[in-house]
Amino acid sequence: MTGVKRIAILGSTGSIGTTALRVIARQRERFRVTALTAFSNAAGLAAQVSEWAPAFVGIVSSNGSAPPASWRRGEGTLVEAAVRDDVDIVLNAVVGAAGLDATLAALEAGKRVALANKETLVVAGALVQAACARGGGEIVPVDSEHSAILQCLGSRRPEGVRRLILTASGGPFRTWSPGEIAGAQLAEALRHPTWTMGRKVSVDSATLANKALEVIEAHFLFGLPYDRIEVVVHPQSVVHSMVEFIDGSVLAQLGVPSMELPVLYALTHPERVADEGVPRFDPVSASPLTFEAVRLDAFPALRLGLEAARAGGAAPAVFNAANEQAVALFLAGDLAFADIPARIDEALQRHGAMPAHDKAALLAADAAARSLVRRRGL
Ligand code: NAD
Ligand code: MG
Repeated sequence: MTGVKRIAILGSTGSIGTTALRVIARQRERFRVTALTAFSNAAGLAAQVSEWAPAFVGIVSSNGSAPPASWRRGEGTLVEAAVRDDVDIVLNAVVGAAGLDATLAALEAGKRVALANKETLVVAGALVQAACARGGGEIVPVDSEHSAILQCLGSRRPEGVRRLILTASGGPFRTWSPGEIAGAQLAEALRHPTWTMGRKVSVDSATLANKALEVIEAHFLFGLPYDRIEVVVHPQSVVHSMVEFIDGSVLAQLGVPSMELPVLYALTHPERVADEGVPRFDPVSASPLTFEAVRLDAFPALRLGLEAARAGGAAPAVFNAANEQAVALFLAGDLAFADIPARIDEALQRHGAMPAHDKAALLAADAAARSLVRRRGL
């Protein structure tokens, strides 16, 4: 890679955002941070600003103390940061559909988008592909499974691929009975066995809704139909995903479970750069590596998400919006764990077939799903 790459981090105070800054701190000769945005954590953002001195700082919601006058404010700051001339790579580390406009704008402006915000592709995968084609931007996934698949594919031709196999840790309830899962408490859902992540994606990993979002993400990133994208449970999170080729050969990408690896790769792809930041892989201490069939009966959110994927149209956006709203209620203590898939199911039945021809239609389906889940959650 030639020259210093200039990076905007959207959602810089979150789990992926802070992971990225840790990675970039070890690669200061390669990268410069030119824009940072956060939702409401002004103190965390201020600390990052004093270390990185970005040209642009944005905060979405500044309730409480007034932010410095030089900071931009409001929802529009994500798009502002994403299209700047002094930005080469936009790391979208925002959680939820709120990241959509910034992804689209960055791609239209010809940027590389290092995409952690998988919801972008679930809500509007076809629009994202069109924005890439129009603006000449590119998406490089940050999600560990998709980074693994990208690395396994390398420069091989897509005709040679038979199927993608996404690994799933199985989450904290992998071995629980459906009855036990139905009564799961918030603290239990947030206790992920192999990853430390933001609260929303942690709950998604407990319901396995996350894996449905990732199947849809893989469909739009790699262009394979859903009957050639499979999920297998792999509790150790060491094999990050696999690609089977038409001759029967299977390539997998392995590594210690650390998001620092896929974050760095998304910034340097297709090249690799030296980094000593994460513990070295040791196959003996990683052993044994095991695989299990996924229990769709115990994890209805995954089943519903896979059905929404196949239905297409507005169904993935409705699945995502209902899930976001139900998880927000669960995190607030206002919904039982078992009601997350129940609300998603209702939203899909009511709104899954809404029109999906453009962004306005998708956002209307998103809003209808959220509103239904909120009303039923009261
Ligand atoms: P997080 O909750 O820790 O951080 C989210 C960030 O987004 C915060 O900086 C917050 O300020 C910002 N944000 C939240 N709502 C916003 C809004 N409405 N407008 C603008 N900014 C907003 O979440 P995370 O775990 O870092 O996850 C971020 C994304 O990365 C998610 O899509 C998640 O699924 C994906 N992801 C995360 C991990 C992980 O290990 N954490 C792994 C793979 C993928
Ligand atoms: Mg993942």
